[in-house]
Amino acid sequence: MTIRRTHIVGAGIAGLSAALAVTAEGGEAVLYEAAPQPGGRCRTIQPADGFIHDNGTHVLFTANRRALSLLKDVGARDRWIEPEPKGLPLHDLKTGTARRIGLSPWSWLLPSRRPDGLKFSDLSRIARLAFPSQDCPVAAIIGNRPIMDSLIGPLTVAVLNTPASEASASRLGLALRQMLWPRACRLLVARNGLGEDLVQPATETLQARGVPVLAGQRLRTLLTNGQRAIGLALTDRTVALGPDDRVILALPPYEIQRLLPTLPVPQGFEPILNVHYRIPGLARPRFIGFTGALAQWMLVRPDHVSITVSAAHDVIDLSADDLSQTIWREIAPTLQSLGLDAAIDRQPEARVVKEKRATIKQAANLLPLPPLRPLANLALAGDWLGSLPATIESAVVSGELAVAALRHARGAKLTVSRTSLQRRENAA
Ligand SMILES: Cc1cc2nc3c(=O)[nH]c(=O)nc-3n(C[C@H](O)[C@H](O)[C@H](O)COP(=O)(O)OP(=O)(O)OC[C@H]3O[C@@H](n4cnc5c(N)ncnc54)[C@H](O)[C@@H]3O)c2cc1C
Repeated sequence: MTIRRTHIVGAGIAGLSAALAVTAEGGEAVLYEAAPQPGGRCRTIQPADGFIHDNGTHVLFTANRRALSLLKDVGARDRWIEPEPKGLPLHDLKTGTARRIGLSPWSWLLPSRRPDGLKFSDLSRIARLAFPSQDCPVAAIIGNRPIMDSLIGPLTVAVLNTPASEASASRLGLALRQMLWPRACRLLVARNGLGEDLVQPATETLQARGVPVLAGQRLRTLLTNGQRAIGLALTDRTVALGPDDRVILALPPYEIQRLLPTLPVPQGFEPILNVHYRIPGLARPRFIGFTGALAQWMLVRPDHVSITVSAAHDVIDLSADDLSQTIWREIAPTLQSLGLDAAIDRQPEARVVKEKRATIKQAANLLPLPPLRPLANLALAGDWLGSLPATIESAVVSGELAVAALRHARGAKLTVSRTSLQRRENAA
């Protein structure tokens, strides 16, 4: 009897999700990851000096059902906590005002939870955004109204990592519709970090199911024969695929283009800038938004403070020192108001993480997308596939869909000999 194995390349969230889905059905999986550790764009950085922080703050919403279900499956759901159950604090650094807003439209029934400047006439525009008749930039629907600065602009950039002047109303609409359900808008963060509260529990669950997670194994070349994948040329080994084996490439679009150059993939990306300050913080995390400043979101943890600037193309190439100084001056007064020792002229040690290809650019035009199963025994996964915003949720969904797409894949009649595989690898 031949063993049917799913070879999953890329151990980001999409690859981990695919491996969990395969093994939940009783299948066998092997994960190959180019980096020294799994996690991809969701990772905890652990330098020798002990200043441990995530690459960037990741939030989930209770609307992200597949992501939460994955967390539950790996025993980590209760590690994601709601830092601001009474509404999201928003500080406008231009006017010096601060208020808490509700993210759910239902919460706006309470005047104290309404975003600044929300008028009755805005509601019909927000409804058009949730149910757009055709795709267009978010700004084309909302226009130049106060609600753009106080809610829609920041929300668009946070969800789509693309400015509202370009961002796809259809993609945002998908997210907004999911958030209409009661209690779907609760914002969650990892209590201790992405490694401890997401990647590690997922990896440990896979290892307990007998899945090898092989780090440091970059897929150099995909070996194909007609419409089938027949081998994987990795960093230090070549894996010959059996007749019933399947492959999932859970990789970013530029890697798919390198490996399968005829497939159409999105070409545009948006950066995210993250600055982490090493200061004694608060025992329980706090999450605060800013408008009228470079800093957009702040997560206060027990031993550091992390700042996120999404859609950061205008500033990503500035020097790390300039960025950390500018942002420190912006956030220090808010940190003081939380009771922390944060003098404006005493900037603490800072780490700047620039993720230049944080997500694809999610603009209001049709993105080139490849078929989900471009070869008979190979499917694609990754946050950039499909029409959901490119987030953890879409990465999880894409992993599950790739497994479903291969469920009825037919086996090959012939196996390929090792020598012919070697010949093909040399030719490639
Ligand atoms: C700073 C930042 C903040 C974010 N904030 C949020 C947020 O708040 N909420 C949210 O939901 N999402 C957020 N995201 C998006 C989220 O991180 C991604 O959507 C998700 O991690 C994508 O997972 P993925 O598996 O599709 O891709 P990736 O994480 O890119 O995984 C691909 C993996 O493949 C590996 N790889 C690449 N090439 C090869 C090869 N040739 N061979 C083998 N392995 C290879 C890579 O090393 C990587 O591990 C954020 C992203 C960033 C960068």
